[in-house]
Amino acid sequence: MKFYNLKENSEQVSFAQAVKQGLGRNQGLFFPEQLPVFDDIPAMLALPLVERSVKVLKAFVSDDLDEQQLTEIVTNAFNFPAQTQPINEKNAVLELFHGPTLAFKDFGARFMAQCLQAFSGGEKITILTATSGDTGAAVAHAFHGLDNIEVVILYPKGKIALLQEKMFTTLGGNIKTLAIDGSFDDCQALVKQAFDDKELAKAIGLNSANSINISRLLAQICYYFEALAQLSRQKGAENLDNVVFSVPSGNFGNLTAGLLAKAMGLPIKRFVAATNANDTVPRYLAMGEWSPNETVATISNAMDVSNPNNWPRVEHLLKSGLVEQGCVSSASIDEEQTQSTVIQLSKLGYISEPHAAVAFKALEYSLADDEFGVFLGTAHPAKFKDVVESILGQPIGLPKELADCAGETILSSDMSAEFAELREFLLTNTDQ
Ligand SMILES: *Cc1c(COP(=O)(O)O)cnc(C)c1O
Repeated sequence: MKFYNLKENSEQVSFAQAVKQGLGRNQGLFFPEQLPVFDDIPAMLALPLVERSVKVLKAFVSDDLDEQQLTEIVTNAFNFPAQTQPINEKNAVLELFHGPTLAFKDFGARFMAQCLQAFSGGEKITILTATSGDTGAAVAHAFHGLDNIEVVILYPKGKIALLQEKMFTTLGGNIKTLAIDGSFDDCQALVKQAFDDKELAKAIGLNSANSINISRLLAQICYYFEALAQLSRQKGAENLDNVVFSVPSGNFGNLTAGLLAKAMGLPIKRFVAATNANDTVPRYLAMGEWSPNETVATISNAMDVSNPNNWPRVEHLLKSGLVEQGCVSSASIDEEQTQSTVIQLSKLGYISEPHAAVAFKALEYSLADDEFGVFLGTAHPAKFKDVVESILGQPIGLPKELADCAGETILSSDMSAEFAELREFLLTNTDQ
């Protein structure tokens, strides 16, 4: 299957090219030229995760990977579960945080890393990415130890939580981390300058591994199928026509993947796109005007995005009729409601964190009597230990992944926000 550029439709590339290139011309996003549609959903849902995911992904990658290669990639990438947990009789959470960095980004980042390695053809690739936390950890762990791939991660020195910093700065090997004397925006600006420097980009095989990469989204389709598989075991396959997913949204990659799953025949009734105070999308869906405000900092900080980069894909899915126009509603949840929802969930016996709480609250506002709600648990509560403990007034335990890295040494180098210094580092430290 080919993937085409949503901005310049004549640009069509293979899956391998889309993965390596990331973005198309004129910053356009790649989109599959047609979607496989499954008509025997109960049979699909009866399969184990890896086997089903291979079926889901096969048509997308068939130009570049045979079934055996794909099976190997999926087996390596999805080596941890996605798990639904009941909250009450009307709601369940889909926990996506049982991977190595305790956030759903592990699914996409690990699949992308495995694909990129398969497509590298022995050429050197340098992943350069800026992070304010979660993405850096997921990317670092996904690529750690892979041959021919160097990873360089920039982050704002002193501006991320220590445990979060330790999750991606202590690995060593092919993972290089730079603590930049500046803000997250400065880090992003440096990454952009590197990509604009065509000579440098070519010399070191630059790739960003960011959330607009189509491979990350395709991987995420698979856990929507897994959620319905688990629900069908619990409720019976005939009782799946009323499921509503609430997706805590920042760049809207997760929602895009859910809509793709629906367009492929998975019986999801509709979606709630839940945001924090960064409410560009809920305002857009209500008023029809795209007017991003200045980004504001919230306790659900992975969703502090005011110009979501996957929105053109969502819009395409809705406007092209691949999914029904009305199947996405959206709500913005403020800080006070987020905190009270963390408490509300803990009273229901479930320790959550701010992102999941935003999704649960938005679902509660939206769910009709005859609907069943599933909200996505995108991060382990321990990743937001300080804020969760201060809301709940009680300590929460550290899972093994975090406890393990807490005692490790940070291996980062300090660097100024001067591009010349980064350029020099990239040319000398990513040995060709
Ligand atoms: C990245 C992230 C989100 C937002 O996901 P998008 O796909 O960007 O909408 C939500 N929650 C957590 C914990 C995240 O890390």
